[in-house]
Amino acid sequence: MNVRVRIAPSPTGYFHIGTARTALFNWLYARKNNGSFLLRIEDTDKERSNSEYTFDIFEGLKWLGLNWDEDPVIQSNRTEEHREAINKLLSEGLAYRCYTTEKELQLLRENQIKQGKPPRYDNRHRDLSKEQEENFIQEGRNSVIRFRVDDQTSVIWNDMIRGRMEWNSKDLGGDFVISRRAEANQIGDPLYNLVVVVDDAAMRITHIIRGEDHIANTAKQILLYQALSLKPPIFAHTPLILNTEGKKLSKRDGVTSIIDFKEMGYTAKSMTNYMTLLGWSPPEEMGEIFTLEESSSVFDFDRVNKAGAKFDWEKLKWLNSQEIHSWTPSKLLDYLIPLWQKEGWEIPSKDWGLKLAELIGPSLTILNDGLEQARFFFNEPSLKDDGIEQLKIEGAKRCLSSILQCLEDNPWDGNDISVAKLIISNSSKSLGLKKGLIMKSLRSALMGTTKGPDLLTSWSLLAMVGKDLNRIKNMSRYEC
Ligand code: GLU
Repeated sequence: MNVRVRIAPSPTGYFHIGTARTALFNWLYARKNNGSFLLRIEDTDKERSNSEYTFDIFEGLKWLGLNWDEDPVIQSNRTEEHREAINKLLSEGLAYRCYTTEKELQLLRENQIKQGKPPRYDNRHRDLSKEQEENFIQEGRNSVIRFRVDDQTSVIWNDMIRGRMEWNSKDLGGDFVISRRAEANQIGDPLYNLVVVVDDAAMRITHIIRGEDHIANTAKQILLYQALSLKPPIFAHTPLILNTEGKKLSKRDGVTSIIDFKEMGYTAKSMTNYMTLLGWSPPEEMGEIFTLEESSSVFDFDRVNKAGAKFDWEKLKWLNSQEIHSWTPSKLLDYLIPLWQKEGWEIPSKDWGLKLAELIGPSLTILNDGLEQARFFFNEPSLKDDGIEQLKIEGAKRCLSSILQCLEDNPWDGNDISVAKLIISNSSKSLGLKKGLIMKSLRSALMGTTKGPDLLTSWSLLAMVGKDLNRIKNMSRYEC
């Protein structure tokens, strides 16, 4: 079988991680089977759809490397086909016009709730006579179109993740609406379950892989496939992504769009790596760190769990740090330069930038850490509490004066690190103070704190751009 799968996001919100993970599983399955991964923008809800969100979907997929085959299908361009299918169902008596007003529907629901019954449409307009219809039209009522659901059957399918699935058709809420309310004889906007079936069939989709929140829709859609004499595809319902409280991950959990992760400093590779692990267990020999190519060569639904997958920031951060730490300084620098440029920070030379990237690289978890870690190389540091405490220590400022003296006597361009070592050991000897004190005080003067990257390398980089002398001078005079 030539596998054809699709992701069908609605541009009614940003490209959320749940949809991105569904796209990823589709992509992996397509690549594993040398099939096609297609994209359909489900923009039939005109009021809520927005081109900004469509753009976000494209950007998110591109950033993750989930390239799609064939031109994207824009659902709103296919309304004629959707209407044709509705007409077919109407003409075959498989769908009908329902004139029940919103008010009557509400009353029905309220009564059902009062009786402790689940709300459902009672199919009251299923078999209207011509005369009854005429009367409703005379009254000026509009109609929706409902699909006739046989209450006596059950819908059965073999789910690639969940195995045999059975859904009693009487639990589908009665005959369901396939087109919005419109004037008599008109067909209103076709609705989700109908359009999805028409489009998936037209796109020759062989496997529908989507979140388990669509299971009830699947039952309805299989009935529509049958009614339209179409062969239903194979279904796979993926587990949902949950927050730490075990609820479906939502905007409230701090992320709206997948691009937010990019902005926060996560890499595309660690994102796809992490999202693959959200619900899929790799074969043992693969370990937990892998590329899209690696996972796509072995991806299978046998290894997808049924239970929801908890989103774990710590795990994502760990994967991200592993990824960044594996980069060459040159690759890292390519990512850091645009971040620094946004702050107005320019590197004096490529070589200097490479040294800085190499220096801070091992302490980065996310790329944006490269801002805080590099800040004092570009801007004057602010003195932190621990830096102040350090400078208060007896002898600390004398250390700085001694270093300053050495530098004034023999200016240092930062290139030869042995000069820095010599200055420190000479100062230690001449002052009779421990090297540790000298180094910590120097660190506080240069960085504003006692913690930070390797002191000698940092000092050398600062000396190369002439930023060390003034800091040491100022701090040697600092009034604690
Ligand atoms: N537009 C639907 C959604 O975003 C698509 C669901 C499906 O894959 O059929 O949830």
